[in-house]
Amino acid sequence: MKILLLICFCLFLTSISGRTAEPKKVVLISVDGLKGELAARYLPLLAKRAGPSNFHTDAMTTLPPLTIPSHASMLTGVDPTIHQMLNNSSDGSSLITTPTIFDQLGSAGYKTAASVAKKKLKYILSTTGELGIDYYGPKWKWNLDSASRLLSPIMAVKSFRTDSFVQRDAMKIVEENQFDFLFIHYGEIDWNGHVYGGWGGPQQILKIALVDQKIEAIISVLEKNDPGLKNTTIIVTADHGGHGTMSHGKHDSAGNEIDLSDVYSLTYENFVADDVTIPWIIIGDKASREDLPLSNPISIKDTAAVIRSIFKL
Ligand SMILES: [Zn+2]
Repeated sequence: MKILLLICFCLFLTSISGRTAEPKKVVLISVDGLKGELAARYLPLLAKRAGPSNFHTDAMTTLPPLTIPSHASMLTGVDPTIHQMLNNSSDGSSLITTPTIFDQLGSAGYKTAASVAKKKLKYILSTTGELGIDYYGPKWKWNLDSASRLLSPIMAVKSFRTDSFVQRDAMKIVEENQFDFLFIHYGEIDWNGHVYGGWGGPQQILKIALVDQKIEAIISVLEKNDPGLKNTTIIVTADHGGHGTMSHGKHDSAGNEIDLSDVYSLTYENFVADDVTIPWIIIGDKASREDLPLSNPISIKDTAAVIRSIFKL
């Protein structure tokens, strides 16, 4: 009889501990335009946090390696040939129809939030174009501080937020600690590649070092809220890389323009390796899990699959 009571008590404790398990949190950080080779060299704080086995700098993005198609694959887990978000311009696009991580987490009752640099990402965050009531801050209100406006007047025209603005909102979200899933998108590394000295130029390298510090600041607050990051996972990746001053995703290694009109005909041989190679870094709760759904090499599409697996969707 005593043994029976003990078994019942143990079963009761198990069910209680299951119900009271801490909720999971995931922070997905996309560093626009950060190629794998530069991530390997200029993210010392992140490299220390992740350790060599979780700090991958040879992951692959989709074809074409452009902001909208590649981010759409990061957030849905499917190829551009499936989601068909091929228009990379700031306007004139239509909303994504393939459900994204935001759609799926929202339907499952999780709180989602985002702080992003480029207004055009609104087309691919969710099928409704909204993040619902959980989106932090004024919706798509694109302010620039006066210093940024002086330094980069074009940014205002391009509906672009500086990394300091992205960071300000992201820090507020992590400090308030009310989210389950947070997406942070830094844009200045890509911007500097296009406009100030190309990929790997001194301006871009400086911006990479600053993003390394910004991510460290985010992780420090997450750690304060969840000591040891026992229930928090951070994934850091990029949408694409780039090379020289030739931008990304549009020219082959000889400088010839690639015909992007038929997405089905694109192959990795068409593109420069630096355009398609990206970092994929994981820190925290799930970093040491061996059954993460990762390809070899890791694909940007794995990001959505990993997030789904963490939330058991
Ligand atoms: Zn981009």
